[in-house]
Amino acid sequence: MEYRYGIGVSPGVAIGPALVLDTEGVLIPHRTVAPEQVEGEIVRLGHALDETAAAARGDRERMTVRLGPALGNIYAAQQSMLEDRVVRTQIESRIRAENYSAEYAVSRVIRDFVKRLEDFGRRLGDHGAAEARRRATEFIDLERQVLAALLGHPTNPFGNLTEPVVVLANDLMPSDTADFGPRSVRAFATESGGNTSHTAILAGALEIPAVVGIGRFLTDVSGGDTVIVDGGEGVLIIDPDEDTLARYEEKRARLLARPDRYEHLRDKPSVTADLVPIRLLGNIELSQEAAHCLDRGADGVGLYRTEFLYLNKSSHPTEEEHYAAYSSVLHTLGPNRPVVIRTLDLGADKFSSVSGAVAGEKNPFLGLRSVRLCLRNIDLFKTQLRAILRAALHGDLRVMFPMISTVDELRQCKTLLNEVKEDLEYAGIPFKSVVPVGTMIEVPSAAIMADVLAKEVDFFSIGTNDLIQYTLAADRNNEHVANLYNPTDPAVLRLIRMVVQAGLKENARRQEQSRRPFEVNVCGEMSGEPLYIPLLVGLGLRQLSATPRKIPEIKRVVRELRVAEAEQVARDALGMETASQVSSYLRDHLRKILPSEAVD
Ligand code: PEP
Ligand code: MG
Repeated sequence: MEYRYGIGVSPGVAIGPALVLDTEGVLIPHRTVAPEQVEGEIVRLGHALDETAAAARGDRERMTVRLGPALGNIYAAQQSMLEDRVVRTQIESRIRAENYSAEYAVSRVIRDFVKRLEDFGRRLGDHGAAEARRRATEFIDLERQVLAALLGHPTNPFGNLTEPVVVLANDLMPSDTADFGPRSVRAFATESGGNTSHTAILAGALEIPAVVGIGRFLTDVSGGDTVIVDGGEGVLIIDPDEDTLARYEEKRARLLARPDRYEHLRDKPSVTADLVPIRLLGNIELSQEAAHCLDRGADGVGLYRTEFLYLNKSSHPTEEEHYAAYSSVLHTLGPNRPVVIRTLDLGADKFSSVSGAVAGEKNPFLGLRSVRLCLRNIDLFKTQLRAILRAALHGDLRVMFPMISTVDELRQCKTLLNEVKEDLEYAGIPFKSVVPVGTMIEVPSAAIMADVLAKEVDFFSIGTNDLIQYTLAADRNNEHVANLYNPTDPAVLRLIRMVVQAGLKENARRQEQSRRPFEVNVCGEMSGEPLYIPLLVGLGLRQLSATPRKIPEIKRVVRELRVAEAEQVARDALGMETASQVSSYLRDHLRKILPSEAVD
């Protein structure tokens, strides 16, 4: 049994057989076979090893001709392992002794070998460890080839599941999670990733327990091993013993039976203890989640991440597909609740394989992503804008542009929106011409220019997930810099304050002119953490948008707060010099306002 710790990004406990997904998504369907099938498994094994060895021999010969014997010999190690009688005997004896399927026996033997190799390498210092890792990768590659030969090169890893699995992977792209559902996937755990990675966000939305950023563990587990994921504790347990299994079975049952702790607050108003309204909105990725917003007492949708329309699709969604998704969300929310539709935020870690994106960018988070990509793919952008304006007839729709980094960029987006209106008008297609327009503030340049940007739009939404990563130059998905990626960093707080101040000033100006108020929202994950709520309210925010599941907890904090007290919290925090000072100060404060609850 092994415990591995990471970042819990979606709570809950799941127990099940592991499905280890590597880059080719190889699945081991059965761990054991019936005794009468054992000899058949040994024959299958022999064929698969022969086939893979022949392929390695061919690769070696080709590479030797092309690049010389030194590089050709990379394949020699794989070939000789495949042809090695001792290795074959070891795998065969695992099949005979333990009724393992050929796939499981191959995986077990190779993974044990890799683990021994890595342990040995570590004892030799940095150089030894690096060399061992390199060799280990070759053997993992070998395992994949043998499994592919055994399984007939499967394409859909979920195609022949006999029971729901726990997915284990180095990393998952949002599109990998497309087939995740309660009947196929109970939970997942990944080696990389942070708590604002898109896979993490989607796990939260789908309410699947998940742990990310665990560091290397895939070499210690084989498909079919029993594993436990506890998303609340942020732990993955490989091969649990019976006591542990029983303890987590019990915890799982307890969590499933527990009613939502704050369900009773659902229909209570979201106001502070001194009766200042704080509007709570939901973030959604899929149109079906609109109903979750209502279930959890949200006042509307503050962020609809429309790029998830690309789930399960290899081509661009059509205008009708966009229109149907937006109309369905608006119908669910009714005529009086706002729905903020964010235009496509593709690229970097989100659906970066869509056409129009640049393959192999060296620095995709600083590259052609999001609105930059849309402005280079006008047809793609206009298709979405047309659908948005048409759907706006069905409710209180607002449109928002992501990743704006300059005033010019925002103006270009608005120009395109106007062009689309003209096209629709000209074609006689019904649409709503007056739709509030907003911009996300998630790049430091936009925060710095907030006073100018405010004149261009009707609202801001601060995307703290990206704002933190760009302010601190710390990738939001990279566990190695997770210590820098901190919502309470004073630099982040100063930027948020700057944006809120610009919004308040613009609001005052508009009030004098009797115009519609200017609104500022926060829609990053920061809004979903009780710890940060007093600070955000104290900084002047009156609107927060979070994963629907988090809304009752947030409302609970809001209802205990007094604005003057929250303002003092913000002043104190802004006077501090480090993120850790601010975090521990906020924890102490939350303990004071919620004395009966565990604050971690
Ligand atoms: C953000 O960056 O804070 C945000 C809400 O957008 P996303 O997480 O989709 O990048
Ligand atoms: Mg963002």
